[in-house]
Formats: sequence, structure tokens, C-alpha cells
Amino acid sequence: MHNDWCAGCGDFGIANAIQMALAEMEIPRHKAALFSGIGCSGKTSHYVNVYGIHTLHGRVLTFAQGAKLANPDMTVVAAGGDGDGLGIGAGHFVAAGRRNIDMTYVLFNNGVYGLTKGQASPTLRLGEKTKSLPSPNTNYNVNPIGLAVASGYTFVARGYAYDVRHLKDLIIAAVRHKGLAFLDVLQPCPTYNDINTRDWYAGLDAAEGSAERHSRIYKLEDTGYDPEVHYNEESEINERLSQALIKSLEWDKKIPTGIFYRNEIITPYETRLSDKVPNYLENHPSEQRITSHGKPAADISGLLDGLEV
Ligand code: SF4
Repeated sequence: MHNDWCAGCGDFGIANAIQMALAEMEIPRHKAALFSGIGCSGKTSHYVNVYGIHTLHGRVLTFAQGAKLANPDMTVVAAGGDGDGLGIGAGHFVAAGRRNIDMTYVLFNNGVYGLTKGQASPTLRLGEKTKSLPSPNTNYNVNPIGLAVASGYTFVARGYAYDVRHLKDLIIAAVRHKGLAFLDVLQPCPTYNDINTRDWYAGLDAAEGSAERHSRIYKLEDTGYDPEVHYNEESEINERLSQALIKSLEWDKKIPTGIFYRNEIITPYETRLSDKVPNYLENHPSEQRITSHGKPAADISGLLDGLEV
């Protein structure tokens, strides 16, 4: 299949991890849908062999949530860049967290708008100057993990595009999670971001022989960190939220990956909806007939007549 991502782009690792995760979970192709936004990462939905829907800039979560609500039996994964999701799509990012629909959102986080030649995106740090910028970035950065935790996402994790096996395991955990799972994936863009490179993440920018010369990335699970909310008690929930927020601030010398926060006590939106709409889960919209005796099952002719001028 033709692929026009640049050589060495982290997108390859993420697309592979998604494909590997869905294969390992033995999810049939017709039972999974991958939605993507606009940007280099937007092409991911063309490269994974499930239903692929390439949507609008900043709107990937709206399409994906709509599809999941229409067919709650479908495994739904949304994919998009940090510019797409945290710039123009930031409102949808926050609103989605409040709903907690049972699906997965994978953020390709590279600090630049790669498709449009490397402008500063919302995760690029204040004062950083990539090779694609004429002067240092004048905006403060968004903290994706912190924003997800604050917005109500019930599964919040971070992976690294070049650690594909670990990322695959995180995607499996995210898909299995009952609720909205957010995965921030650090994705080097070798073409435009010459700061957060593969060597930088590996700590190879430090002088040879220096004590600083070790991988910046580490795994929370190797440190005994417990992301799980075990009891439905405010103090327990607040403690887990607080530790996730504190961990989300770690950057530069040490960068945590793994699961920051997981809470399956909060019910998914679908469960709340089924309390209001009888038989929603058994007879959801995708199960319903759209025609009856050759005519649309929903008769809106009266409405159309009323709109006529
Ligand atoms: Fe990847 Fe950057 Fe090339 Fe886009 S511009 S394909 S993000 S390396």
C-alpha cells in the first residue's frame, strides 16, 4: 500500500501498534472502526485494515462518539494529532471527557503541525525553537495528560511510538477499559521537530560519559505506581487524580509512560443512556430499520412541508 509518511516518522510505530492490538484481541475487521482527524496522523485510518473514516479537522471525537452511540457493539478508536485534538478540537476533547463514552482516543503528539510544514502545535513548550520555526514559540504548552485527567477521562495513559510492544499493550488496555480511554503517544517528527527527537528521548543528546546520558522515558509500572481507583470513595478518587496530575508534570529529564489513571467505577455514557432510553443497548440505532415498505422509516415529510418557503 502506498504510504507517504516521512522515513523514520513515529506514525509508523503507532499505526503498527493499533493493528497489532486489534489483531491480538481478535476483533473481527467488521467489528472495529478507526476514525482519524486532519494532519499526518489522519492517514492512519487508511492503513489499518478495519473500517476507516477520515474526518474533519478537530472533529474526530465527534464522529467517533456518534458512531459508537449508534452502534455500541463496535470497537471504536479515534486517532489524531496534538494540533488537531488540542488546538481546534480542544472543546471536543474536554466535552468527550465529561461524557465517558466507551471508546479509545490515540493522540499523536509531536509538537508540530507536520502536514503544513511544522508550525508550533499546542504541546510545543514555550521558548522552544524547532528548525521549522523562524523564532522561538511564544505560547505556553498544553499538558495533554493533565487536561485529560481534569476533563474526566477515566483511563489516561502515555506511550512512545518507538516502543511498539509497550504501546500495543497500552492500546489493548485502553480498548478493554469500560469508558473513554485517552492515550498520549510521544511521536517524533524527524522532518520538522529537531528537539524531541528519537535521540533526545533516548537521552543521547547528553555528552558521552555524562550521568545524564540515559533514556528519558521510563515506565510507571516499573516503579510500583498504582493508577487504579479501587473504591468509590471521594478521598481515594482524589488521591489517584492528584498523583496522576503530579506525574503529568514530569518532563525533560524523566518522562513517564504507562497508565497514569484508571477508574472503572464511573459508568460509561452508554449505561447512563440506557437508563433513560429503554432497550437502547439491545436495539440501538444501527439495529433499527431505516426503511419501511420502500419509504424512510422516520417520516419527516411534515417537518419538510413546514420548512417550505
Ligand atoms: Fe511524520 Fe513529521 Fe513527516 Fe508528518 S512531517 S509524516 S509527522 S515525520
